[in-house]
Amino acid sequence: MSLYLLIGPPNVGKGTLAAKLRNAGYNTATVSDILHNSGIKLPTTGLVPDEVVVPIIKDAVKNSNGTLVLDGFPRTPNQANAIFEFGMEVNKAVVLSVPLEVLIERANDRVICKVCREPYTISDFKKPKVEGICDKCGKELVCVKREDDKEQNVIIRYNEYNKTADEIIGILKSHGVNIVYLDTSKGYSLDKVL
Ligand SMILES: [Zn+2]
Repeated sequence: MSLYLLIGPPNVGKGTLAAKLRNAGYNTATVSDILHNSGIKLPTTGLVPDEVVVPIIKDAVKNSNGTLVLDGFPRTPNQANAIFEFGMEVNKAVVLSVPLEVLIERANDRVICKVCREPYTISDFKKPKVEGICDKCGKELVCVKREDDKEQNVIIRYNEYNKTADEIIGILKSHGVNIVYLDTSKGYSLDKVL
């Protein structure tokens, strides 16, 4: 059993990379989903306390086989230290980055279905297959903005991430974790991160 970590600010593209790795045969788990399924309400800005997050994540990953790609953990230096007490090998961490302007651009472009929260874009990047109808829930599509995607919240969350990112990466390095850096604003192939 081993862990492969995906680290980066919100909306940097961790979910997209996790999906690619899933298609390549890896098991993946997303921290926000694990917390959500445990009944934890995620704040728009700020973090869920470590003492709440760590036991839930530890419990969720303990039964995984082979390599588990863990998306969104660790988010704090305490979590980075705690991961080495999980009894699993941590062999790799991919640190995803993107310029803040690109994150703001993506957030400005993104809207969600008012009913089921399926994401769409104002640009042509992701439109519904049938105009005016949501692909996922099939209801008339009324798009709204996520609170997370408002520019001031994008900036706050980006700064929150950067406050501790170097320290987290330093802790992982000190434990011999192989760190791979990936700028997602340019195209990339999966062999860069395998
Ligand atoms: Zn919908």
